Order: sequence, then C-alpha cells, then structure tokens
Amino acid sequence: MRTGAGGRGSGTGVVWARFVVGALATVVTGILLVASAGAQQVPTPESVLGHKPGDDFYLATYEDSLGYFRKLAAASKRIKLVDVGKTTQGREWFIAFISNPENLAQLDHYKDVSRRLALARGVSEEQARTLAREMKPIIHIDGGLHASEVANHQHTIQLGYDLVASEADEYKAIRQNLIVELWFSINPDGQSIVANWYRENLGTPYEVSPLPVLYQEYVGHDNNRDGYMLNMLESREITKATLETEPLVFYTQHQTAPFPGRIYLPPFADPISGNMHPLMLRWLTLIGMTIAQRLDDHGMTGSMHQETFDVWYPGYIDNIGNFRHTISFFTETALYRYATPHFYTVDEFPAARQALGTEMLYSSPWKGGWWRLSDACRYMLEADMAVLNLASKYREQMTYNKYRAARDTIEKFEKEPPFAYEIPREQHDAPAAALLLEKLMLQGIEVHQSVKPDAWVIQMNQPFAGMVKELFEPQVYPALTQRPYDVTGWTLPYQMGVEVHAVTTPLTKQARDSLRPIKEVSGLAAPFNHGSNASFRAVNEILAAKGTVTFSGDEIAASGIDKGKLDAILSENRLKAVAAESKDAKPVKALRVGLYRPWVASIDEGWTRWILEQYKFPFTNLYNADIAGGHLHERYDVIVLPDIGERQIIDGHRPGTIPERYAGGLGEEGVQELRDFTTDGGTLITFNNASMFAVNQFKLPIDNALTGLRPDQFFCSGCLVTVHIEDAKNRLTAGMTPDTTVMFERGPAFDTKTGFKGTVLARYPRERSPLRSGYLAGPDRLQGKVAAVAVEYGKGRVILLGFKPQWRGQSHAGYKFFFNAFYGE
Ligand SMILES: [Zn+2]
Repeated sequence: MRTGAGGRGSGTGVVWARFVVGALATVVTGILLVASAGAQQVPTPESVLGHKPGDDFYLATYEDSLGYFRKLAAASKRIKLVDVGKTTQGREWFIAFISNPENLAQLDHYKDVSRRLALARGVSEEQARTLAREMKPIIHIDGGLHASEVANHQHTIQLGYDLVASEADEYKAIRQNLIVELWFSINPDGQSIVANWYRENLGTPYEVSPLPVLYQEYVGHDNNRDGYMLNMLESREITKATLETEPLVFYTQHQTAPFPGRIYLPPFADPISGNMHPLMLRWLTLIGMTIAQRLDDHGMTGSMHQETFDVWYPGYIDNIGNFRHTISFFTETALYRYATPHFYTVDEFPAARQALGTEMLYSSPWKGGWWRLSDACRYMLEADMAVLNLASKYREQMTYNKYRAARDTIEKFEKEPPFAYEIPREQHDAPAAALLLEKLMLQGIEVHQSVKPDAWVIQMNQPFAGMVKELFEPQVYPALTQRPYDVTGWTLPYQMGVEVHAVTTPLTKQARDSLRPIKEVSGLAAPFNHGSNASFRAVNEILAAKGTVTFSGDEIAASGIDKGKLDAILSENRLKAVAAESKDAKPVKALRVGLYRPWVASIDEGWTRWILEQYKFPFTNLYNADIAGGHLHERYDVIVLPDIGERQIIDGHRPGTIPERYAGGLGEEGVQELRDFTTDGGTLITFNNASMFAVNQFKLPIDNALTGLRPDQFFCSGCLVTVHIEDAKNRLTAGMTPDTTVMFERGPAFDTKTGFKGTVLARYPRERSPLRSGYLAGPDRLQGKVAAVAVEYGKGRVILLGFKPQWRGQSHAGYKFFFNAFYGE
C-alpha cells in the first residue's frame, strides 16, 4: 500500500478500512444526535451533502460548502454569512460569523471596539481594561489556502455545524464568550479545482495524481507568500476583512507535518523576527502547547513542534498579522493524498524515529497505521477547539495584550530610531515608490506628505510600525542553526528600486506639524522614460490603441493617438504628458511573446503570467504541444522559460503517474524546436535554473561557477544581491540603475568560455560582497561572476538570467531585464 495509485477497491486493506470507518461513523453520528437534541432543525453536513466531511474518497467543492453554509444560516440565528467579494476566478466568496444571537446582533459594536484597541490611540490603560472585560473577541479560523491540503477546507464544514448546533458546555461557552470568524476556505477557487480533479480521477490509476494546474490561478502555493505584498485579490480581501474585524487570533490550517508527526504546532523553529511584539510569541507558544495537550488528552498522538518550519519570512498570510498584534499562526496536519487513505509502517519512518523514542517536543510519538482524511479532520477540529477554549478562558487578558502590544509599539518608536522613514517623491522610478506606499496603506499603515522636502513620510510612532521596519530594513539573518525554510531577505525598497531614508533623530515639532496625512497617493507625474516600469504599461496601452511609440536613449515619445486618450493613459500610469516624437527616431513594435507553461504546474510561470498581464504585454501561453508543433519563429519573436529545472522541462510528469494528456515534457523534439526557433532569429529568455537547461541543451559556451560547491562553500536559500549593469547603452538594460538589486534564489552564476559571442549584461561586483539583505554563505563565489548575459545563437540569441527577475511580484527593480526584450523595431 505504499504506492497509493490504484489502491481504491483493489486491495483487501482498503475494503476492511472502509468497513471500520462506516462503523465508527455510526457511533459518532449517535453522539451528535444526542448532543444536538436542542437544535433538530439545524441540518447536518451529511443531510445536505450526502457525506460526512472527511469521508474516504469524498471531497466537497467550494460550491458544496457554500450551499451547506447557506442552509445552516437559514436554519439558525447563531450564524451570519457575510459576502467578502469575488475570487480571482469570479466565485462568490462568503465567510461566517458564529456566536450567540445577542453577540451577533452587536457585531458592528464589537468590531469597532476591536479596532479601537488594535490602534491603542486615545484609549487609556483604564479604558482598555474595561473594554477588554466587556469584549467578545473575534477569532479568525480558516479552511486554508493550499487547496491540495484537503482536510483544511473539508473540516471547516463540520466545524461550522458543531459550533452552531452543539449544546455541549464548551461550545456554549465559546458562543457566549467569543465571535468566531470562520472562513470555510481562503482559496475557494482551489477547493473546487482540487475536488473536481479528484472526482475526475477517482477509481482510476490516477486517483492520487498531482494537479496539472495551479490551485490559485496565478501563484498556486505562493498564495501563502503574498501576505505583505498583496498582489493577489484573495490576499487583499483577507487583509481588508482582517483590518475591519481586528481578530485576536488568526489561525490557518495546513497540511502536512514533518513525517511521521501527525500535527506540527507552535512554537515554530528559529529564527524569528525581532520586529514582533514578544507577547505575540508568548501566546503562540501557549496556543501550540494547549493544542498538543488537548490532543494527547484525547489519545491523539504525534504532536510536534519547532522542526523544519520557521516563520522568518513575513509574507505568510498566517504570519504577517503578528506585526498588527493579531496572534497569527498555522498548523500542519498529516496528509496522504486527497481523500484516499493510506497505511504506514514504522519501517517507512526516518531512521532516527523508527525506535519511536519520546522527545521533549514530540512527547507522544505516532506509531504508524492507517491515516485517512477523517483523522486529519479530527486533529484539526480538536486543534480549533483547543484554540477557542483558550481564547474563551483568557479572552480578557488576550484582548488587553493586543492593546498593550500596539501601545508599546507606539511608545517604542517615540524613544528609539528609526523615528520615521522618508521617501522622496522624486525617484528613479517614482510610480514604483507610489506603489510601495499603496501596499503599506493596504496594511493599515499611516502615511503622511511633507512639503519640504517634497516627500512621503511614515512616522514610526504608529501601532503597526513593526511591519514597516520588517519590510524596510535589510535583513540580518542570525547564525545558521538550520536551513532556512524560505528566503532570508526581502527588503522592499531594495527590491522595488525605491530610495528610502531612515530618520534617526526625532522629528522636530515643526516638522511633525507640517505633515499632512494622506488617504491615497495622488498628484504624481513622473517622466515618461525607461526608468519607470509604469512607462512600459503606458507604451503597451498606446501600441494597443494603434499609436506610435519611439525610443531615443531612455526617453519615450508617442504620437498617432488622440491627445485626450494619450493623456489619460499617461496620467493613469502616473506619468507626465510628453513632447512629440523626434523625426529621426524609429518607431518600436511589440514583439510576439510566448510564455512556456508546463503541466508540472509552475508557480514561476504563474507569477510571470500575472506580471505580463499587469503591465499589459500581449503574450501567448505555450504548452508542450504548442512547442512540439514547430514553426515557432513564424509565430513568435521571444519565448520565455520561467524558473523550471532542466529535467522537468524535458521530461515533465512521468507517464503512468497522471492522465496521459498531461504526461511528458518538451522531449527531444520540443528542445530541437526551441533550438530551431533561436537559430532562425528568435530570442529565448531563461529565468534562474531554466538557464542551465539552455546552457546544456544548446551547448552554449557558458559554465555555472557554482556547480559542485558544498553548502559550507556556498549556500543561499534566497537573498537580495547587487548586480552591476555592464553597458549603460544596451537596449536590454535600458532604464536600469548602474547597481540594481535582484533576488538570488538557488540559481546559477556564469563564466563565459572560449568561443563565447554575445554581451554580458550584468555582473556581481568584483571587489565587495554582493549581499544586500539576508543570508549568503560564500559571497566571494559570486563576486565578479556574470549574472545576466545575452548569448548569440544562430541568427538569434539566448538571454540567460541567473536570478529571479520577477520574484513573487516584488522585485520591480529587475522587471526591465525581460521587459526590454519585448520590443523590436
Ligand atoms: Zn500549506
């Protein structure tokens, strides 16, 4: 039973297991019938869905979930559904508030008190104590955003029912003391995509096949890497709603735990940011231990802490809230695949854990056996209950601590630097600076305008200032104790190419008095040139409107388009109206761009696709069959290969592991088509590790200088580095500053070899470490190496970028490395 594929119905173990589950379900249903005697009219999930959430081989779609919650809300005054907007794929998106009817009737009042306490301003110590005593705090629990982690969103259906219908004492106390903000899924699109995929393959050899598409339209699993940048619609909706309710706790369900653990809980692995209030971390630890204690009390073994997952990166949507003093965290419950059960034996465990020894933070080792969706749901339900019980018991103290953390933060930055950050309005890429401020304002950060100097100012004596510091300062990664789980540096001003000054002396009263708070960034008109990314969007809009665009140096001019329309395009992009084009400048045209999209769903492809859409570049997604179809240069001028490994590009999914239409990669034929495309005059652009695909498959005279280095010689899981632009006049690097910051994430660094023909575009500095933010072991290995290079190949060229020029939609300073290649004469 180690390979799950084809297991359903074909093995006696499965049949036996289904019988046992059936018997258990009868017992559980019996208990619920007694428990909910006072609420007979409230429909159970099984009466509506025909299944109990967590049943083997069954997954509810989001539409199923919503249908059930609508019936639940129609039948009970203890639940109120609220519309939070539309998802990326246009689904209706609802959340539920669950509490006593009297509390729900005053929901607006409690939200208001929540916000007052969260901001702390104008609330005295005594008032805060009184408000905390009277408060019915709001607790956010959600069904996750990683849709292949199916128990996340399946278990919330049962949780909703239990919280509404149960008459057991602890449920009554929770409804009396708290308001539960239940998001049955924070990725509704993904829930339905995964459930439908599973239904399609159920009972076939492909029952547990991986999903060939991203479960969030653009970014798949990276939907939990967008917590501060808020590029995705879902991230923005969640943040908006969270700022409105200011929950005490924000709990997101995930799967899967480090094996063989059954659930991974706080405290998380180090390191941790120093910009969070310590009370957040104290409550996190207390919550984690409370869940573990409850699980062991119910005979549920395998709780694990402080392993593998750190929360150094602030971009997790279930972490960023800590900087706003909402105790935010995730747990990871064990998962096999979808709703298919699996039997584990101890000899499958890592060697160190086969003896089943007791550890301080793994006190009740799991001994193996069956693991099914219903088990994962049960762990999650008990974990939710542990959190709700704790919050119900300590609501007053927790509520007061939220206020206290905000007040402490305001006071801290009255006394210590940085006292403010100043962002000049005049910038190399001023619209990028405006965008940066807008991101902060979406997070509830207060921004001011100063007249002299002409700048935006973020005063740090504000409640969520810790977040600003976290995003603005260079990250200094503590001594390496374990491998970082994610990237180690993300400093936004560096990534976005925005000049920001930390103010290290207190602002004078006069300076403070001259500041005006702003609600939106307005009145910006930057030069229309290659310096600002927004200019590229404007160019694309002008070309789409059949206008003419010319480039002369970095300057851009436009004509052949109605003046009113041109001005509208420019002002929407925060650009100045332009002079007419010079007579001798040649008009440019938009090249025909193809973006490779493999069936091994690529997050990097998704981010690239999203950015191209945002900047209005016309492009076509190219699947394996499109490339194998040949005649590529007749149809495309530029083909982009996002960051995907060489073997994955060539081989794709192994045949037999996924329905046939998704099996395989480019294959030798596809690779030859790409070679022909380039030989015929096309441009191939490769991001990060896809570069080594091109180097090896095209036999380019390039070496990867980092090949074969041990982790003690060179290691970087993601940090920000400087690259130096080699030739200021090159069209491929037009508009870039001489030193630009890019995200280096497990990529190559190049040496050119004999026979090399082409142009080195950017190089890591020779005399100093390229590191700007985060952790980099062996920086000398990068020094002087080539970061970006255009290599001649036949009549065309290959542009190798040894980094991520579009990292998570954050590294705006690097976008021009590919934007520039999309125009021709
Ligand atoms: Zn997850």
